[in-house]
Amino acid sequence: MRPAGATKIRYMAGKKDTPRSVVRSATSNSFDFDVELKRSGLAPLVRREPTTVQINVGRLCNQACHHCHVDAGPKRTERMARPVAERVIDILRRDPSLGTVDITGGAPELNENFRFLVENARALGRRVIVRCNLTVMLLQGMEYLGNFYRDNRVELVCSMPCHSKENVERQRGSGVFTKSVEALRILNELGYGRPGSGLRLDLVYNPVGAFLPPQQKHLEATYREELGRSFGIVFDHLLTITNMPINRFARQLEIEGKKSEYMSLLVNHFNPVTVEGLMCRDLVSVGYEGTLYDCDFNQMAAMPIRDQVGRPLTLWNIHDMRSLRGRAIATAAHCFGCTAGAGSSCGGSLA
Ligand code: SF4
Ligand code: SF4
Repeated sequence: MRPAGATKIRYMAGKKDTPRSVVRSATSNSFDFDVELKRSGLAPLVRREPTTVQINVGRLCNQACHHCHVDAGPKRTERMARPVAERVIDILRRDPSLGTVDITGGAPELNENFRFLVENARALGRRVIVRCNLTVMLLQGMEYLGNFYRDNRVELVCSMPCHSKENVERQRGSGVFTKSVEALRILNELGYGRPGSGLRLDLVYNPVGAFLPPQQKHLEATYREELGRSFGIVFDHLLTITNMPINRFARQLEIEGKKSEYMSLLVNHFNPVTVEGLMCRDLVSVGYEGTLYDCDFNQMAAMPIRDQVGRPLTLWNIHDMRSLRGRAIATAAHCFGCTAGAGSSCGGSLA
C-alpha cells in the first residue's frame, strides 16, 4: 500500500533527469555505483571540506520500524560513551569549518551523553540538529525534552512518514501516529514550526514500501493541509527520504522477494543531477565508538573512511576534519538510493 498522496514513481523532471529508456535488469554489474558515475562523467566521487558532523550515538531506540537502516530497537546495547562524546567536542573546538552538528541514533535522546553533546555544541556556537522520532518525548522521564530543545535552540527533524494513521502505524508500530501527533502539538505550543519563532521543525517522509518518494514540494503541501486541518499542526518543511536497501529494510525486501526489483528501480532512476549535492561530500559521520564514515548509510554498511594503509580512521587519529578534503568517498550499491529520481539525503530531496 502506498501512503496517501504518493503515486507510483516515474521521475520526469526534465531531459537530463529522465529515467533510462532502456531499463536494465538486475545483474550484479548493473548495481556498480562507480561504473554508473564513470558512465556519467562524474567519477571519482570526492569529499569537499566537511561542514557538518553527524553523530550517531547508538542503536538504542524505543521503536523498531520496518524500514530502519540502523536496525535500531529497544534491545540494542551499542551506545556512545562519555570519552567519545568528549572527543567529538574537542574536534569541534579545534575545527571551525564544522558549523553544523547533526545528532542521530537510534533515538539519540536515550543516550546518557545526549545533553552533554547538545549543550557543548551549542556553547561552541554550532547549529545543532536532532533527528527525533517524536514518541521518545512521551516516555517517562523524557518530559523535559521539549523545553530542553527550545532553550538550546535545537533544530528538529522529526519522523512522520505519512499524514495517515494507517500508513504510519504499518511502518512504525501500533499507537505511534497518535503519540507523534501529541508530541508535535507539544512542540507547536513551545513555538516550534511557527513563523518567526526561529524554532525550526521539519518532518520526514519515507515510503512505506519498495518505491520512491513522491515529489517533495507537492507532498509537503498535502502534509500541511492534512495535518493542519485534522490536528492544527504546523511545521517548516517536509523532507522526503528514500528507503535505503540496508539492514532491516534490505531483509524485508529479501523476505518479500523484492530486493532485485527495488535495486533495479533505484538504478534505472539514477539521476546525475543529484551527485553534486550528495551529503557525503560535505558531511562526516561519527559512529558510537568514534570511527569515521562518509555517511550514516556507510556506517551501517560497515564501510569506514580508511587511511593510506587501509586502517579505519577514528576521532583519535585525525586532528581535524578539514584534512578529509579531496579524499575519495567509499561507495556501494546502496548509493543508488541517494541518486534515484529527485535524490535523497538527510536534508531531503536533492534535485
Ligand atoms: S527508523 Fe528511527 S525511530 Fe524507527 S527504529 Fe530506526 S531509529 Fe528508531
Ligand atoms: S550512501 Fe549516499 S551519502 Fe552515503 S556515500 Fe553513498 S551516495 Fe554518498
